[in-house]
Amino acid sequence: MGLNIAVIGAGVAGLACAALLQQAGHQVTVFERRNSIGSLGAGVMLWPDACAVLDRLGVLLSAMAVAGQPTVMLRQSPQGRPLSKMDFSALAAGSTYPLLSIFRADLMQLLADACGGIDIRFGTVVNAQRLTEIQQSADLVLGCDGRMHSACRQHLAPVHAPVYSGIVNVIGICRNIVETMESVLDTWQPDLRFGVVPVRNNSCYWAAAWCQPEGASRVVSLNDLRHRFQHWPVQSFLNGTDETSLRTIAVYDLDPISVWHDQNLLLLGDAAHAPLPTSGQGACLALEDAGTLADVLAESSSLTQVFTEFTKRRHPRTTAVQQLGRNMADQLFPRRRAN
Ligand SMILES: Cc1cc2nc3c(=O)[nH]c(=O)nc-3n(C[C@H](O)[C@H](O)[C@H](O)COP(=O)(O)OP(=O)(O)OC[C@H]3O[C@@H](n4cnc5c(N)ncnc54)[C@H](O)[C@@H]3O)c2cc1C
Repeated sequence: MGLNIAVIGAGVAGLACAALLQQAGHQVTVFERRNSIGSLGAGVMLWPDACAVLDRLGVLLSAMAVAGQPTVMLRQSPQGRPLSKMDFSALAAGSTYPLLSIFRADLMQLLADACGGIDIRFGTVVNAQRLTEIQQSADLVLGCDGRMHSACRQHLAPVHAPVYSGIVNVIGICRNIVETMESVLDTWQPDLRFGVVPVRNNSCYWAAAWCQPEGASRVVSLNDLRHRFQHWPVQSFLNGTDETSLRTIAVYDLDPISVWHDQNLLLLGDAAHAPLPTSGQGACLALEDAGTLADVLAESSSLTQVFTEFTKRRHPRTTAVQQLGRNMADQLFPRRRAN
């Protein structure tokens, strides 16, 4: 029999869960604090397991039509000296699914398309009291309300507040690449990084990152970046970037949480296991969570069984990715904890 399911948050995890669970015959309502689907942010790379979930959602071909398929990541010094190479095709070998680079606005639109007919209540901030009301009226509540403002995590694991990572990210979109790019290009020196990901039609997104004390963050402009990366081979990407696409993000980290459920509430996505951006896997984990939840709901006869099985299948992987993100952050930004 179909369950009455409430989803808190219309981000990557929330929309993917909503669409898959509606497909499975459940009655789904989504509560989102924003007034529309969020399109802020530059882009993400989606690994094959995440693309498998897009396939289940019926949007993989549409995603491939607007995404790039970078084959390799090259890391170089600011002087252009090769440092390392990661071959994506080798990593994706054995999977029938591709590795995609996609603008976040495109990904969110595809997920929203997959949610056709679902009641999404925009402009609804779910606080503690509202959460209790929702928990009383729904059979199952999915806490997909993200890294920073998760009322669901606050309810379930109040001691698990995000902690500043020591790193600030600035992201942007360049619609005018001068030369054709097929590789992800990561220019790096200790504590300073500029990564560029090609997408399509001479467009790419990029993320600049450096160490900074907590609270020192302010909105960064293109001119600030031109100055900071003065002699780096990234100026053409900055010159092709529209200032309005820029976003400055103080990056917060979350310790792994051992228990993701309470009564009829289950945490998923960043609310449960936000990894640092250096893992490059947060959106992938959110999509994978949705696929696993749909599977265990179909296979289980009680919510207790759903929660136990979901945690068993997902916790080792999400914890490993969180650790990977931290290890990468320590390696790339050795002074991040010094501030
Ligand atoms: C710079 C950067 C680069 C990244 N690159 C990659 C990458 O290459 N690959 C990858 O896989 N991941 C990447 N990520 C991570 C990825 O963006 C996140 O992990 C992913 O968006 C998590 O999805 P989510 O649905 O859990 O949370 P979100 O997408 O954050 O969605 C949460 C939703 O909940 C809503 N919400 C929050 N609080 C409430 C409330 N109280 N009531 C109602 N609604 C609420 C929010 O408005 C939002 O819509 C990157 C992140 C950053 C910062």
